[in-house]
Amino acid sequence: MHGFLWVLHEDHHRSSGRRFQKNDLFAFFFAGLSFGFIYSGLYYGIQPLTAAGFGVTLYGAGYFIFHDFMFHGRIKALHFKPRSRYLKNIINAHRVHHSVSTKEGALSFGFLYAPKKYAIMKRR
Ligand SMILES: [Zn+2]
Ligand SMILES: [Zn+2]
Repeated sequence: MHGFLWVLHEDHHRSSGRRFQKNDLFAFFFAGLSFGFIYSGLYYGIQPLTAAGFGVTLYGAGYFIFHDFMFHGRIKALHFKPRSRYLKNIINAHRVHHSVSTKEGALSFGFLYAPKKYAIMKRR
């Protein structure tokens, strides 16, 4: 996303203030992709393709739950407060990702795994 797809991802870092971002087009793209995989996998009996389709679906659901909902709070009606260390760490890691709003120099791309260096210090 910080490569040639930056055109779509940019407004995720520099908010336009609108409710939807160009970055959301990724969701549509992956939804279409997973549908295509599952459909043609089932139609032609290609199991790995079906499996890949469900994999993309799971990734998309995970991205929405962790990234859009938990981190960016995009479901205004539901308030989420992280309790576990794992969730606190991945949320902190994504905060690091958003500390840079340019194409170059961004860090911490994953959203399900927080490298050790982004872990919140244990309080003693
Ligand atoms: Zn984000
Ligand atoms: Zn980014």
